[in-house]
Amino acid sequence: MDGWRVGIGYDIHRLVEHRRLVLGGVEVPFDKGLLGHSDADVVLHALGDALLGAAGLPDIGDIFPDTDPTYKDADSRRLLGEIMAKVRAKGLVINNVDVIVHAETPKLTGIKRTIAESIASLTGVAVERVSVKAKTNEGVGPLGHAQAIACTAIVSLVAAVGGHPSGGVASDNA
Ligand code: MG
Repeated sequence: MDGWRVGIGYDIHRLVEHRRLVLGGVEVPFDKGLLGHSDADVVLHALGDALLGAAGLPDIGDIFPDTDPTYKDADSRRLLGEIMAKVRAKGLVINNVDVIVHAETPKLTGIKRTIAESIASLTGVAVERVSVKAKTNEGVGPLGHAQAIACTAIVSLVAAVGGHPSGGVASDNA
C-alpha cells in the first residue's frame, strides 16, 4: 500500500550544570540541563530525525549543522516547525508519534503528559496519537549514571487527504 511511511530518530546529550533542561519543548524543573549547540532538546531532535527519515529527507544534522552560528542556542520548537513545513510540503501528515525518553533522573512521570501535549501542539497532531514514555537505564552505563539523557522516537506518516495539510488519515476509500 502506498502512502504509509515510518521513521526512527535517536539523540543523546550530556547532562551538565548551569543549563536549562528542555524536553519536547517543555522546560523541566531540575538542577541540571542538557549540553548542546542549540537548546539540546533531545526529544525534539529525535522526533525531528524520525520525521525527516519517514519523509525521505536529509537528517537534522544536514539541515541544521551545529557549525552554523544561526542555530546556536536555537529553540528546537522553531527547528521542528521548519521540519514540519518540509513534511507538509511533501504532502504528508503525521499518523502517530511514539517516544521513549531514556533518563535516570529526573523522574518524568508527572510531566510525560505535558510533553505529549507539547508535541501534539507543535506538530498539529491529536494528543491521542502521541505517546511519551520514560525509562530509566537501571543504573547501567552513562545513561544509568545520569551523565546524559537520550531519546528514541518513531513516527508514522500518511498522505494528506486531498493534499491538504490539515487533512486526516488517508483511507483506501478516500
Ligand atoms: Mg541533538
